[in-house]
Order: sequence, then C-alpha cells, then structure tokens
Amino acid sequence: MFDVERVREDFPILSSEVHGRPLVYFDNSATSQKPRCVIEAVTDLYTNHNSNIHRGVHELSGRCSAAYEDARSKVRGFINAPRDEEVIFTRGTTESINLVAQSFASAYLERGDEVIVTDMEHHSNIVPWQMACERSGASLRSMPFDDDGNLETHLLEEMLNPRTRMVAVSHVSNVLGTVNPVKDIASLAHEHDVPLLVDAAQSAPHMKVDVQDIDCDFLAFSGHKVHAETGIGVLYGKSEWLEDMPPYQGGGGMVGIVKMGGTTYAEPPLKFEAGTPNYVGAVSLSAALDYIASLGMENVAKHEAVLTEHMLESLAGFEGLTLYGNAPLRCPVFSFNLDGIHHYDAGQILDKMGIAVRTGTHCAEPLMDHYGITGNVRASLAMYNTVEEIDILAEGLRKVQGLFA
Ligand code: PLP
Repeated sequence: MFDVERVREDFPILSSEVHGRPLVYFDNSATSQKPRCVIEAVTDLYTNHNSNIHRGVHELSGRCSAAYEDARSKVRGFINAPRDEEVIFTRGTTESINLVAQSFASAYLERGDEVIVTDMEHHSNIVPWQMACERSGASLRSMPFDDDGNLETHLLEEMLNPRTRMVAVSHVSNVLGTVNPVKDIASLAHEHDVPLLVDAAQSAPHMKVDVQDIDCDFLAFSGHKVHAETGIGVLYGKSEWLEDMPPYQGGGGMVGIVKMGGTTYAEPPLKFEAGTPNYVGAVSLSAALDYIASLGMENVAKHEAVLTEHMLESLAGFEGLTLYGNAPLRCPVFSFNLDGIHHYDAGQILDKMGIAVRTGTHCAEPLMDHYGITGNVRASLAMYNTVEEIDILAEGLRKVQGLFA
C-alpha cells in the first residue's frame, strides 16, 4: 500500500548529499520537505496565473481568488471543519495563536481571569498568552506533566474554576512526541464553559485531525510542517467565537464600509485576513493536502508507527543515552542526550555524516526545566524516512560516543 521508496522519489531534496554523504533528514518537526507537486503548483501559479486576489475583475485575479477559496475548502475537509468560514489563513501556527490571544483576549479576558496552558508547550503557545495576561491583568497557569511525558490531566479538574477563560494545549509535543488527550481535555473544559485551543502544529503532519471529533473551539497548524510552503498557516475557530471576536489587524480586505467617521467589518473569515493574503502559500497548501490524501493519512500513520517502533528499539538498547518521553501514544519525535556530550557537539558531528537533527531547547524552555537540562538532540521523522536511516543515525551516535570516549 505504502511504498516509501516511491514516496521518496516525489521529494527532490531527499536524493541530495550533504558533506558528501546521502542526506538523512531528521528535522521534520522544524520544517518538512516539499514534494515535486507542491513546488510545481507554486511555479505554475507564478508562471501562468499570478494576480492579487479578491479585488480584480480580470481573468487572472479571478483564477487566483478561486484557487485561494478552493484551498480554504480543502483545509476545511482536511480538519473536518463544518464550514469554510471557520477556516482563517494566517502566516502559521504562531500567528494563529497570536490572533486568538489578542482578539479573544481583548473581548473576554479581564483582571483576575485565568488562562491554562501546559509545561510542555512550544513558546508559541506560552508567550502570546503571557502577553495577553499582562495586558488584561489575568494570570497564566500551567498544567504539569510526568517524567514519561504524560500530561497530569487529573489536575485540570482542580485548576478549572469560574475565572478560567481559556485552555490552550498542544495536540502533540514537539519534543517528546506525546499525543495529548485533547478530546478529554475539551470535554472537561466545556463542562466548565471554557473554550479549548489546540496547537496542532505537530499532529497535523502525522495523524487525522478532526476538529468536530475533538470538539475544540480553536485549532492552529502550519503549512510548512505539512509539506507546503513557509508563510502559510491555518486557524480554525467555531463560528460562534469568530463572529463575536474583534478583528486582529486592520487593513484592506477585512472591511465592509470605510468612512472617516468609522468602519464596518467583513464577516469571518475575511474579518481576520487583513491585507494581501498569502494566496500562493494557500495554493501550495492545497497541493500538499492533495498529496497527503493521495497517500492516505492512515497509510502514513502506519508507516510512521513502524519507524517509531524501530527507533524506540534502537534507542532502548543504547548505553549512555537518555531518551526524554515515553508516552504510550506518540508521534515519531525523539529527544535524547548522550552522557557527557553536549547536544550541540553531537548535532554538529552528526551533520558531518549527512544526518540533520536539531539541538537546543526546541522553543520549549519550560519543558527543558522539567528535566533540568539546557537542551537535547531531537530526531523528528516524516512519512519519507526509512528504517535504514534510523540505523544510520544509531551508527552515527556510536561514532559520536567513540570520538568522546
Ligand atoms: N507549536 C508547536 C508545537 C511547534 O512545534 C511549532 C514549531 O515548531 C509551533 C507551534 C510554531 O510553528 P510556526 O513556527 O510554524 O508558527
């Protein structure tokens, strides 16, 4: 069903060499590689159709406007949102969360209110809330996790109270790979009439994400992590919230009537899309989602489960290696340190072998504090990675250890 070698042929960069060695690309949580169909969709748009959208009466503008709105429908299908109007295009997960933190907070967050995040969030789902709390006089609370990387969700019941205005949680940790029980969190939050925002940056590339099944109020993800271009992202929001929330930015495209005495706003989603949107990025996202659909997300997930099992077996038997996170449900993201070897040194030596991993805090400093470390090495896999590449990494790590022995 899923032929990884054929899939790899669709990604031109995967046949390249780095430092004279075949590229092993294990930095997919940072950004994923692009299939030829995405690259070609962008080239085709610029070569044959390019024009700004929503403002022109001419043919090219009509084509690009239609392609942009088609992309919105495709995203709606990808996350099973009930309506196209609930899909807002942004620059990425970061902007999507900032949009909610600013717009939602200015309407609903007051002095004494509370927002709940978790200790395993990416900075994108911490800092915007800190800023919103600072502006409003609300306070930020955080749900801890255990050493295996499981959220202590039993504590959420105690944390939720009449002053809680929002719960914001990552679907999948970008460091530990943990898949968080967002559906349970949604129902618990809703019992207290509190909305839930899900950061799906690391789940969207690996599993079916269904906003109706989760029953989240907001959900954010980035195009560049699901094999589309950089600079395009998505915010899903339930209509009842989007209609009530004030605009995030002002400018062209988000207005009804503009007079010097005052302005009326367009309906969602346009209310939240001020200025020329990234219509080229939206078209690339549309092509990327078509590509994923052509493989089948279930097939991608099955292949990645095989990779996960192999990686865990490989790392389990590794003396002098500490793996962070051991959740029962996980995506193929693995963070670790080698005893006595700085993560940065390990990453640099692996790079010389053509193996691209990420080192540092991965924009998750509170998570690093939990383990009392300054950073680690992260190998994050995607649909086009192979069991053989995992063996190359293991061999590479042994060489790193040998160099420091
Ligand atoms: N949330 C998570 C869990 C992430 O892993 C990332 C990026 O790595 C982000 C948010 C931010 O995504 P972007 O930089 O595409 O806005």
